[in-house]
Amino acid sequence: MTIDRRKFLAGTALGAVTAVLLNKQEAKAGNVSGYKPRFAMIFDQNKCVGCGACKEACSETNHVPAGQLRMTLERQSPLDGTPGNRKYVRVSCQQCSEPPCVRVCPTGAAHIDPATNIVTMDNSRCVGCKYCIAGCPYNVRFINEETKAAENCDFCLHTKLAIGEQPACVQACRYDALVFGDTNDPNSYISKMLAVKNSVRVRAVLGTHPNLHYIPKLKEEV
Ligand code: SF4
Ligand code: SF4
Ligand code: SF4
Repeated sequence: MTIDRRKFLAGTALGAVTAVLLNKQEAKAGNVSGYKPRFAMIFDQNKCVGCGACKEACSETNHVPAGQLRMTLERQSPLDGTPGNRKYVRVSCQQCSEPPCVRVCPTGAAHIDPATNIVTMDNSRCVGCKYCIAGCPYNVRFINEETKAAENCDFCLHTKLAIGEQPACVQACRYDALVFGDTNDPNSYISKMLAVKNSVRVRAVLGTHPNLHYIPKLKEEV
């Protein structure tokens, strides 16, 4: 990442996060601004080298028990190809705008955070029934074996965003393969990227409106 781009990100995505947190405080005080962000992430397959730093940072930041993962990477190419031809894909919660996990949860434990629109958990309400796991079409939820509550990637809502930082995976990626920001802000870096890059979403035909965008690998190196 260039220094200029770091500065740019600091002034956009982080600014949006900070603004949302301020909105949250205002909401608690009864002064609701009404602005609703739509946080999203881009995974750029052209840039990911499969180093796994994102995965490690996620588990450490969110205290995910050993052997369980909020996010992982799948290799989509043989290992014997040249490094430039290796393909990886991020596997994690798609942060659906219309999340089936929330719809089927009988207790409200799986919910949409009202200030940020992020799909997250209230562990104290989770009874471990696993309806949300069955209802998620992306197979990315699990029961945390320590908390005994269901869990999903929530863009580090309670760990990093809460202190005005980018998600741990984004901070850890040294190859610019991950971009995070508010797509409801037309001036955010992520909005500008999505406007000019061809990207795809997984199983969007289901009507889940996923907010994880993938930029597919365009051509093989020879
Ligand atoms: S990907 Fe699954 S866990 Fe994530 S919001 Fe969508 S339905 Fe819920
Ligand atoms: S396991 Fe927890 S979050 Fe999932 S549906 Fe049951 S109560 Fe809701
Ligand atoms: S840290 Fe970045 S380059 Fe490394 S595996 Fe994760 S997304 Fe790919």
